[in-house]
Amino acid sequence: MLTLATSVSKIVGVGPKFAQKLSHLGIEKVEDLLFYFPRRHDDLSHPCKISDLFLEVEYPEACFGDKNLLKTNLPVGMPRSKLRGSLYSGQQAIIRAKVLTIENQRSPRRWMALTKAVLEDESGEIRALWFNQPFLIKNLRPGQEWIFAGKVTFDFRTKQLILQSPSYEREATILPVYSETEGLTSKNLRRIIKPLLNMVSQINEFLPDEILKKENLLDVRLAIKQIHFPDNSKKLGAARERLAFEELFLLSLKVLSNRKEIEQNSAPKIELDISLLKKFVASLPFKLTDDQRKSAWEILKDLEQSRPMNRLLEGEVGSGKTVVAAMAVLAIKNAAYQSVWMAPTEILALQHYKNVKKLLSPFGVKIGLLTSSYKKSQIKQITNNDLIIGTHAVIQEDIHFPHLSLIIVDEQHRFGVKQRAKLKQRAMNSRQGLIPHFLSMTATPIPRTLALSFYGDLDLSLIKQLPIGRQKIETKIVSPDDRAKAYLFIKDQIKGDRQAFVICPLIGQDETTAGGRLFDLQEKKAAVAEYEKLSKIIFPDLRIGLLHGRMKAKDKEKAMTDFKDDKIDILVSTAVVEVGVDIPNASVMMIEGAEKFGLAQLHQFRGRVGRSTHKSYCFLFTESWSKNTQKRLQAMVESNDGFSLAEKDLQIRGPGELYGTLQSGMPDLKMASLSDIILMKRARASAEEIIAKLDQYPALLEKLKEFQSERHLE
Ligand code: ADP
Ligand code: MG
Repeated sequence: MLTLATSVSKIVGVGPKFAQKLSHLGIEKVEDLLFYFPRRHDDLSHPCKISDLFLEVEYPEACFGDKNLLKTNLPVGMPRSKLRGSLYSGQQAIIRAKVLTIENQRSPRRWMALTKAVLEDESGEIRALWFNQPFLIKNLRPGQEWIFAGKVTFDFRTKQLILQSPSYEREATILPVYSETEGLTSKNLRRIIKPLLNMVSQINEFLPDEILKKENLLDVRLAIKQIHFPDNSKKLGAARERLAFEELFLLSLKVLSNRKEIEQNSAPKIELDISLLKKFVASLPFKLTDDQRKSAWEILKDLEQSRPMNRLLEGEVGSGKTVVAAMAVLAIKNAAYQSVWMAPTEILALQHYKNVKKLLSPFGVKIGLLTSSYKKSQIKQITNNDLIIGTHAVIQEDIHFPHLSLIIVDEQHRFGVKQRAKLKQRAMNSRQGLIPHFLSMTATPIPRTLALSFYGDLDLSLIKQLPIGRQKIETKIVSPDDRAKAYLFIKDQIKGDRQAFVICPLIGQDETTAGGRLFDLQEKKAAVAEYEKLSKIIFPDLRIGLLHGRMKAKDKEKAMTDFKDDKIDILVSTAVVEVGVDIPNASVMMIEGAEKFGLAQLHQFRGRVGRSTHKSYCFLFTESWSKNTQKRLQAMVESNDGFSLAEKDLQIRGPGELYGTLQSGMPDLKMASLSDIILMKRARASAEEIIAKLDQYPALLEKLKEFQSERHLE
């Protein structure tokens, strides 16, 4: 008899090959199959008319060269020279149509069997095309009516729309579409999952009754049945809601219990010397903004407590977070303790080292720099400083800080899950049961909803206003035709003694993520090529510098120092300067391949200019006309507010794209969307009700454990 724990290979119809393919998807047991939820559904009960089908292509520049043809029924006369293939993919379509003709052919070069059909409904005709499925002509007979679901594509030779490899069904049901793998289709999955659905009765409900009732949620067994093969769209909606709620609820519980755990620990109580801090503020070359003052105060007040601070300082790019953190460092040093300040890149660590030294050494704070290029013999000396600034080198196991009591993580969203976990572990293992205070900083604004749910174990300080005297950065989308004009403009700015950044397109992930190495190499290539072009052809009379992740630390340092000291006019760089870099004299930020970056990232780049009183400009170069790209870049033009841009990015691209799921440890949610604010609030409220009496719900506790290990949360 099958149980939830039975291996899939025991299921009738699943051979060893099939089982192996399933295992590629992480499916080993019957239970895994039931929990392998569809990626989306095709609602066959709502077919559209053939005459309403159109072609919508994502990268029209590759074929049309004319954006008026973006949305078109029959794009005629496009230049053939620009075609890369003969078919371009468009939208997913569902039609109810009669088969007029159907026949098998060989592909022109004969390596494929083609099945071609003409389908018809009352509004018109469309061709359909299948590859290597010659048996279809036995199933689909002329005169029969079927429901077809497939992608609308375009055949450039005949200039006709084509429905490509549509699936076909008799009944107007709602069909699940699963994430597929090589040789394993949704059709295969439907075939084996459907007969297993009666086994949901063996699954235990783990959500407390009171929550199911109050939130009016489907029972888990029903939800799983309906998510695979829904009776109608209303039930599908209810199933999705239940499963999404469950994820957000577990996430909230986990965040809340983290918080409880932290609050049970003790941290060194720091006695504040207010007059010293006042002296520091008076020594600054500028007046602190109100938000800076308020945040600093919140942080200092936390340090006075005997439980560890766990605070996120979230501030607009260029709002002056560094000086706020420096105040905390001063307070810590004054109480004879140490601070560690971690930055995501060497470039940034070095910059902080220089800037913070200027701010704090007049107050007797001794500062050391620790990056991956340190020598073993120097460690002791470095770790004896009052403040150690460094890259993730500072969290290596063999490095000890004798009096550590504050950890600052700058640009915390740039650190990977593993690094953050390691850091936390280091903090937890400290001496005498005391753990350090913890301050994260980020300039990538986290929308409030996300902050609550995902960073809900952190207290939040906000710096929203920029220092006075800053001018609005002017942002422009530059099409290929206007490139020359933009170069002229840059030249003008440099004549006026300003400097410029040129950012090369993103090829892969950045240097901090594993697996980013290869991309790193390609990015280096792109940057070198751009450097050659600008220094030899476009601006032979200007001083051009180069910066990329593959350079030696020493050379990176030299490039940054030369740029800061105005020995370079234009710095050509990869994304390594995305965060934190502070060059107050730079006034132009030019971004190549702007469509490849998320809004939050673009906003970060833009934040590299406009950091003093000079009027600054941001040029977004793009050759893409995709509607989505235009929408996103237009948002950059219209808004200088990182918070609203982050919300927008969240809506358009989702949280994974906003922060990079891997990089930031964003939970990898199956059903829920972190942009679903209302559901998130409901889940959070329910979690708050339950958390105090969690032990009364053993099934829930168990599920929570499973959830934590499965989702690799910190
Ligand atoms: P971020 O918040 O992006 O980390 P920084 O701390 O690097 O910003 O500060 C950006 C720039 O603004 C720095 O050159 C810093 O010296 C300057 N700055 C910070 N606070 C103020 C202020 N209150 N008035 C004027 N300039 C300031
Ligand atoms: Mg910063």
